[in-house]
Amino acid sequence: MTEMTRRQMLVGTAAAAVAAAVPLVQSSSARAAAPQFGKQAPGFYRYKLGSFEITVVTDGKSRVPITDAFVTNASQAEVKAALAAVFMDTETFFGPYNPIVVNTGANLAVIDTGNGEAAYLSTKGLNGQFLTNLAAAGIDANAVDTVIISHYHGDHINGLLKADNTLAFPNAKVLVPAPEHRYWMSDAEMSRAPSPRIDMLFKNVRRVISGEVLKRLHTYEWGEEVIPGISAVGTPGQSPGHTSHVVASGNSKVFVHGDVTHAPYLFVRNPGWHPFYDHDPVQSEVTRRKVLEMLANEKMLVQGYHFPFPGVAHIEKTATGYREVPIQWDPQI
Ligand SMILES: [Zn+2]
Repeated sequence: MTEMTRRQMLVGTAAAAVAAAVPLVQSSSARAAAPQFGKQAPGFYRYKLGSFEITVVTDGKSRVPITDAFVTNASQAEVKAALAAVFMDTETFFGPYNPIVVNTGANLAVIDTGNGEAAYLSTKGLNGQFLTNLAAAGIDANAVDTVIISHYHGDHINGLLKADNTLAFPNAKVLVPAPEHRYWMSDAEMSRAPSPRIDMLFKNVRRVISGEVLKRLHTYEWGEEVIPGISAVGTPGQSPGHTSHVVASGNSKVFVHGDVTHAPYLFVRNPGWHPFYDHDPVQSEVTRRKVLEMLANEKMLVQGYHFPFPGVAHIEKTATGYREVPIQWDPQI
């Protein structure tokens, strides 16, 4: 291939500008400038897994300032360098949320529910987008028969409720990990909450996991097939009963890993880093390394709740850790 010199580029740019200027001048009297939309397109992405159809539906994103507290065992400078390495804003961290819908042919199952409609209103649409994007994806929330929860943090359970506290998925069973439910519903554990943040999480769990939600709730154990084609795997650390799910159809599998790692460009690439929201950072790191090693060895597809949308990737080993390789957008399924 011929190398383009700077001079050629400048000449080329000038010629393109002249060419572009002519029709612009001619058309300006004929029609007004097109209005800009000023908002993102609805966010959903579909892929096939054997005979199953998975729809990833974005719930929006969070905005967290980068401070020394963001990663408890890495300096602010190290975190900022990792963000700069992937051309991200180094002052504010943007964390996406990716709940999924699995249509197995027999069940229409949601895995995790996002921040909820109340958050959509309070954040002016920054997050809590799940229900609106679900509708844009052509999926009726009333047709969802199963909601599977990975753990009891607000960004995974608050979407069980609408802003008026009625059920977002009124016809669904709510399946939750037994160890997670046991921990957060224990008054003894609540009374010895290790930090104000955990105490706040307890209060949120007690608000959401109550009333109509509790009536539809069933617990499942690690190792159990939760519904045909979706099995629970214990991945504790981020919370005491944090659970991942293997979705399998035919010879195809995806590991829906919840929050085993948060943003991959920080915590897949640096599996030893402890994000501030890990309940038990040491156990979380053990889980993270075990899962990443398995994903890399088995070349298994992973669906990351906080990976960049649509959150589907493979994991490969590097000299210092691991690296995520996102799937390519496929315009067909
Ligand atoms: Zn989360």
